Amino acid sequence: MKTKLLESLKKECLDCQRCELGKTRTNVVFSDGNPKSAKAILIGEAPGDNEDKTGIPFVGRAGKLLNEFLEKAGISRERDLYIINTVKCRPPKNRVPADSEKKSCEDYLLKQIDIVNPSVIIFCGATALKSFYDKKIAISKIRGEILEIEIGGKIRKCIPIFHPSYLLRQHSIKEGSPRDLMLKDLQKIKTLIDG
Ligand code: SF4
Repeated sequence: MKTKLLESLKKECLDCQRCELGKTRTNVVFSDGNPKSAKAILIGEAPGDNEDKTGIPFVGRAGKLLNEFLEKAGISRERDLYIINTVKCRPPKNRVPADSEKKSCEDYLLKQIDIVNPSVIIFCGATALKSFYDKKIAISKIRGEILEIEIGGKIRKCIPIFHPSYLLRQHSIKEGSPRDLMLKDLQKIKTLIDG
Protein backbone atom coordinates (compact mmCIF):
# COMPACT_ATOMS: atom_id res chain seq x y z
CA MET A 1 0.00 0.00 0.00
CA LYS A 2 2.74 2.46 1.04
CA THR A 3 4.75 1.62 -2.07
CA LYS A 4 1.76 2.23 -4.36
CA LEU A 5 0.98 5.58 -2.76
CA LEU A 6 4.60 6.67 -3.01
CA GLU A 7 4.87 5.51 -6.62
CA SER A 8 1.83 7.56 -7.55
CA LEU A 9 3.25 10.61 -5.72
CA LYS A 10 6.56 10.12 -7.51
CA LYS A 11 4.78 10.13 -10.88
CA GLU A 12 3.25 13.47 -9.96
CA CYS A 13 6.67 14.86 -9.01
CA LEU A 14 8.28 13.70 -12.26
CA ASP A 15 6.02 16.09 -14.19
CA CYS A 16 6.14 18.88 -11.62
CA GLN A 17 6.83 22.45 -12.67
CA ARG A 18 5.44 24.13 -9.56
CA CYS A 19 8.61 26.14 -9.05
CA GLU A 20 11.52 27.47 -11.13
CA LEU A 21 13.76 24.53 -10.17
CA GLY A 22 11.71 22.33 -12.47
CA LYS A 23 13.09 24.19 -15.50
CA THR A 24 16.77 23.42 -14.87
CA ARG A 25 16.73 19.95 -13.27
CA THR A 26 17.94 16.82 -15.05
CA ASN A 27 16.13 14.41 -12.71
CA VAL A 28 13.62 14.75 -9.92
CA VAL A 29 15.28 13.36 -6.80
CA PHE A 30 12.36 11.69 -5.09
CA SER A 31 13.82 9.46 -2.34
CA ASP A 32 16.12 6.63 -1.36
CA GLY A 33 16.06 3.98 1.34
CA ASN A 34 13.23 1.86 2.65
CA PRO A 35 9.74 3.17 1.84
CA LYS A 36 7.93 0.24 3.47
CA SER A 37 9.30 0.07 6.99
CA ALA A 38 11.90 2.80 7.59
CA LYS A 39 11.94 3.83 11.25
CA ALA A 40 13.38 7.26 10.44
CA ILE A 41 13.05 9.83 7.67
CA LEU A 42 16.20 11.81 7.00
CA ILE A 43 15.59 15.20 5.37
CA GLY A 44 18.56 16.86 3.69
CA GLU A 45 18.80 20.23 1.95
CA ALA A 46 18.54 19.82 -1.82
CA PRO A 47 19.95 17.67 -4.63
CA GLY A 48 23.44 18.56 -5.81
CA ASP A 49 25.13 17.78 -9.11
CA ASN A 50 25.53 14.00 -8.57
CA GLU A 51 22.02 13.69 -7.22
CA ASP A 52 20.61 15.62 -10.18
CA LYS A 53 22.46 13.27 -12.57
CA THR A 54 21.39 10.05 -10.84
CA GLY A 55 18.00 10.96 -9.35
CA ILE A 56 19.16 9.58 -5.96
CA PRO A 57 19.72 11.69 -2.83
CA PHE A 58 23.08 11.76 -1.00
CA VAL A 59 25.28 10.03 -3.59
CA GLY A 60 28.10 12.60 -3.92
CA ARG A 61 31.02 13.15 -1.53
CA ALA A 62 28.73 14.31 1.26
CA GLY A 63 26.51 11.26 0.71
CA LYS A 64 29.50 8.93 0.94
CA LEU A 65 30.56 10.56 4.19
CA LEU A 66 27.01 10.23 5.51
CA ASN A 67 27.10 6.51 4.65
CA GLU A 68 30.35 6.11 6.62
CA PHE A 69 28.83 7.76 9.68
CA LEU A 70 25.64 5.70 9.40
CA GLU A 71 27.66 2.52 9.21
CA LYS A 72 29.73 3.48 12.27
CA ALA A 73 26.53 4.17 14.21
CA GLY A 74 25.01 0.84 13.12
CA ILE A 75 22.22 2.47 11.07
CA SER A 76 21.40 0.82 7.76
CA ARG A 77 20.66 3.31 4.99
CA GLU A 78 18.71 0.65 3.08
CA ARG A 79 16.72 -0.80 6.00
CA ASP A 80 16.30 1.94 8.62
CA LEU A 81 16.02 5.15 6.62
CA TYR A 82 13.86 6.84 4.04
CA ILE A 83 15.84 9.76 2.60
CA ILE A 84 14.45 12.92 1.05
CA ASN A 85 15.34 16.62 0.67
CA THR A 86 13.47 19.87 1.32
CA VAL A 87 13.17 20.25 -2.48
CA LYS A 88 13.25 17.54 -5.14
CA CYS A 89 15.03 19.46 -7.89
CA ARG A 90 18.54 20.85 -7.87
CA PRO A 91 18.93 24.58 -7.24
CA PRO A 92 21.31 26.05 -9.88
CA LYS A 93 24.94 26.37 -8.71
CA ASN A 94 24.00 24.42 -5.57
CA ARG A 95 22.53 27.48 -3.89
CA VAL A 96 20.31 27.07 -0.85
CA PRO A 97 16.68 26.58 -1.94
CA ALA A 98 14.52 29.68 -1.54
CA ASP A 99 11.67 29.66 0.96
CA SER A 100 9.21 29.91 -1.93
CA GLU A 101 10.74 26.82 -3.59
CA LYS A 102 10.58 24.87 -0.34
CA LYS A 103 6.97 25.95 0.09
CA SER A 104 6.11 24.77 -3.44
CA CYS A 105 7.65 21.37 -2.72
CA GLU A 106 6.39 21.01 0.85
CA ASP A 107 3.19 19.23 -0.04
CA TYR A 108 5.15 16.30 -1.56
CA LEU A 109 7.41 16.12 1.48
CA LEU A 110 4.48 16.15 3.92
CA LYS A 111 2.75 13.41 1.95
CA GLN A 112 5.93 11.30 2.02
CA ILE A 113 6.16 11.74 5.81
CA ASP A 114 2.49 10.87 6.22
CA ILE A 115 2.78 7.72 4.10
CA VAL A 116 6.06 6.41 5.56
CA ASN A 117 4.98 7.47 9.08
CA PRO A 118 8.41 7.17 10.76
CA SER A 119 9.07 7.12 14.51
CA VAL A 120 11.65 9.86 14.14
CA ILE A 121 12.51 12.60 11.64
CA ILE A 122 16.14 13.64 11.22
CA PHE A 123 16.78 17.20 10.07
CA CYS A 124 20.11 16.82 8.32
CA GLY A 125 21.56 20.34 8.25
CA ALA A 126 20.33 23.86 8.89
CA THR A 127 18.08 24.13 5.83
CA ALA A 128 15.98 21.14 6.85
CA LEU A 129 15.88 22.31 10.48
CA LYS A 130 14.79 25.83 9.51
CA SER A 131 12.00 24.48 7.32
CA PHE A 132 10.27 23.18 10.44
CA TYR A 133 11.74 25.02 13.43
CA ASP A 134 12.82 28.46 14.67
CA LYS A 135 14.77 30.05 11.81
CA LYS A 136 17.06 31.98 14.16
CA ILE A 137 18.52 29.05 16.05
CA ALA A 138 21.91 27.74 14.92
CA ILE A 139 22.08 24.02 14.27
CA SER A 140 25.21 23.80 16.42
CA LYS A 141 23.11 24.91 19.43
CA ILE A 142 20.35 22.38 18.99
CA ARG A 143 21.81 19.35 17.20
CA GLY A 144 21.28 16.08 18.99
CA GLU A 145 18.23 17.34 20.90
CA ILE A 146 14.97 15.48 20.61
CA LEU A 147 12.29 18.01 19.56
CA GLU A 148 8.54 17.46 19.44
CA ILE A 149 7.20 19.32 16.40
CA GLU A 150 3.81 19.34 14.73
CA ILE A 151 4.29 18.24 11.14
CA GLY A 152 1.30 17.64 8.89
CA GLY A 153 -1.08 17.78 11.87
CA LYS A 154 0.81 15.20 13.94
CA ILE A 155 3.36 15.71 16.73
CA ARG A 156 6.58 14.07 15.59
CA LYS A 157 9.87 13.33 17.31
CA CYS A 158 12.61 15.16 15.41
CA ILE A 159 16.39 15.39 15.80
CA PRO A 160 18.66 17.88 14.03
CA ILE A 161 22.12 16.69 13.01
CA PHE A 162 24.95 18.31 11.05
CA HIS A 163 24.88 18.08 7.27
CA PRO A 164 27.74 15.88 5.98
CA SER A 165 28.85 18.62 3.55
CA TYR A 166 29.80 20.70 6.62
CA LEU A 167 31.76 17.73 8.00
CA LEU A 168 33.75 17.48 4.75
CA ARG A 169 35.52 20.64 5.96
CA GLN A 170 35.91 19.46 9.57
CA HIS A 171 38.52 16.74 9.92
CA SER A 172 39.10 16.47 13.67
CA ILE A 173 37.63 13.45 15.44
CA LYS A 174 38.55 14.77 18.91
CA GLU A 175 35.97 14.64 21.71
CA GLY A 176 33.48 17.45 21.10
CA SER A 177 34.49 18.05 17.45
CA PRO A 178 31.67 18.22 14.84
CA ARG A 179 32.56 14.72 13.58
CA ASP A 180 32.51 13.33 17.12
CA LEU A 181 29.14 14.99 17.77
CA MET A 182 27.72 13.66 14.50
CA LEU A 183 28.59 10.11 15.49
CA LYS A 184 27.10 10.57 18.96
CA ASP A 185 23.89 12.02 17.48
CA LEU A 186 23.54 9.11 15.09
CA GLN A 187 24.17 6.64 17.91
CA LYS A 188 21.37 8.35 19.83
CA ILE A 189 19.11 7.98 16.79
CA LYS A 190 20.06 4.30 16.55
CA THR A 191 18.94 3.80 20.17
CA LEU A 192 15.67 5.62 19.44
CA ILE A 193 14.83 3.59 16.36
CA ASP A 194 15.74 0.33 18.03
CA GLY A 195 13.64 1.17 21.11
S1 SF4 B 1 11.47 21.42 -6.54
FE1 SF4 B 1 9.55 20.41 -6.01
S2 SF4 B 1 7.96 21.95 -6.44
FE2 SF4 B 1 9.84 22.60 -7.50
S3 SF4 B 1 9.60 21.72 -9.58
FE3 SF4 B 1 10.80 20.27 -8.34
S4 SF4 B 1 9.27 18.81 -7.56
FE4 SF4 B 1 8.17 20.64 -8.25
